[in-house]
Amino acid sequence: MSSITSLANLNVYELVAYRPGKPIEETAREIGMPAEQIVKLASNENSMGPSPRAVEAMAKAAAGVHIYPDGSSFALRTRLAEMVDVSFDQTAVGSGSSELIELLAHAFLAPGKTSIAADYSFTLYSIVTKLMNANYVSVPNKADWSHDLQGMLNAITPETRLVFITNPTNPVGTMVFQEELDAFMSAVPEHVIVVFDEAYIDFADEKPDTLKYVKEGHNVVVLRTFSKAYGLAGARVGFAITQPEIADLLNKARSPFNVNLMAQAGALAALEDTDHLARGVEMVKQGRKMYEDAFKAWGIDYVPSHTNFILAKVGNGSDCFRKCLQQGVILRGMDPYGLKEYIRITIGTESENKRCLEAMAKALGKA
Ligand SMILES: *Cc1c(COP(=O)(O)O)cnc(C)c1O
Repeated sequence: MSSITSLANLNVYELVAYRPGKPIEETAREIGMPAEQIVKLASNENSMGPSPRAVEAMAKAAAGVHIYPDGSSFALRTRLAEMVDVSFDQTAVGSGSSELIELLAHAFLAPGKTSIAADYSFTLYSIVTKLMNANYVSVPNKADWSHDLQGMLNAITPETRLVFITNPTNPVGTMVFQEELDAFMSAVPEHVIVVFDEAYIDFADEKPDTLKYVKEGHNVVVLRTFSKAYGLAGARVGFAITQPEIADLLNKARSPFNVNLMAQAGALAALEDTDHLARGVEMVKQGRKMYEDAFKAWGIDYVPSHTNFILAKVGNGSDCFRKCLQQGVILRGMDPYGLKEYIRITIGTESENKRCLEAMAKALGKA
């Protein structure tokens, strides 16, 4: 009898599963600390929490959860279209922007086709590319850790279908700006779909306009999410703004009710609570400065960040991770990226940041 793995698609069998941040409950069990005392700064969630209006809307929606949600997410997509001034048929929503990334792979990748991303960007791009048995080409970042857009252009071949530009990028926190993006867009050939993954755009001081490329008719997908600044990571909602033909492909490739009833209601309510959004962004901007000041005082290198996380050069990343974990602070190790000297810290509330800096100070022997 053959083993199950010998029956599997080889490309799926050989995949390395996405490694998320370490969960709080698991850490609580391992170190014997109550879950409430553990600080998780590992997955770039919003420590301020969701908008109370979103919570209320989800609770209300929960009472009607015996009925399937609106499969077309009509109300949410209508509001999103209005917000960014495009038509309804230029929108698509997903169970997080992660699902939209997978749907883009379904829509455009196949054996022999290629996707391109930067070395230091979201690991999911390579997973969904390999899932489709397509080729993944990773382009080195520049010396300042930002995307090398010219290098990415040079990597394009007739088989290239998707280019992912994570802006600002995860896990390093750098950005590319308008002038560079305009030059890139004027040189990119028409058979390439350019995907701007803007999961962290709310935290950037300067926000390049990529929606204009969609409005000008380019083959561009702008991806945004409710998981970061909006504080709805657990609800799973992301959206795409793109050409109607591309949105149509994404809608064909998705499962029928991909964004659940409560998530649709929560996202819609979160959009209206602009004060809550602004407070969360302000918390991050203040926290960013707190870490930068501490790292400067400690003489530690870090990458100046446009996001709600910061990458710090701590010497031995896994040692720092372990020592902080023992103190109930979960950070994100960078081993999957081969950045063994680094650790990534999500910026949390002021008290979480203090806890984290205390834990790091102990771990690194800093006063
Ligand atoms: C967090 C993140 C996302 C969004 O993930 P969701 O599936 O929407 O939760 C997308 N891209 C990048 C680069 C991210 O870091």
